Amino acid sequence: MATIFSKIAAGEIPSYRVAADEKHYAFLDINPVTPGHVLVIPRKEVDYIFDLDEQDYTELMLFARRVAKAMKKAIPCKRIAVAVMGMEVPHTHVHLAPINSEGDLQFSKKTPLPAEQMQSIADSIAAEFE
Ligand code: AMP
Repeated sequence: MATIFSKIAAGEIPSYRVAADEKHYAFLDINPVTPGHVLVIPRKEVDYIFDLDEQDYTELMLFARRVAKAMKKAIPCKRIAVAVMGMEVPHTHVHLAPINSEGDLQFSKKTPLPAEQMQSIADSIAAEFE
């Protein structure tokens, strides 16, 4: 059975898309740790990131790097933080979150944003993606 993230990448479940290519999909986390929190996934269903083969792992991280660069241009922040946990959804996903201090990255304190704001953030990141 397809994971929820495969369904999102296939467009079967709606998402705030920020970037995509043949092998990857990037979209806003529905419950962001900071405004602009993005999830980057491989379209291939592999639960644990370190089970990806070397090529898929490298391509995923290079794609995430391109997304992070777009985020940095679109959202005023000091850094784009990177985290991988995968405790909730069994489909590899790289969290990218704009931060200004270490304390911003508290995954136990996430806050949903209004749909209009989510769409505007997604559009501004998508516009910077190269
Ligand atoms: P984890 O598996 O612990 O790395 O976290 C999974 C993340 O996926 C959480 O931050 C959720 O807010 C996020 N998430 C779950 N369902 C959706 C969805 N339908 N759209 C966007 N983000 C989601």
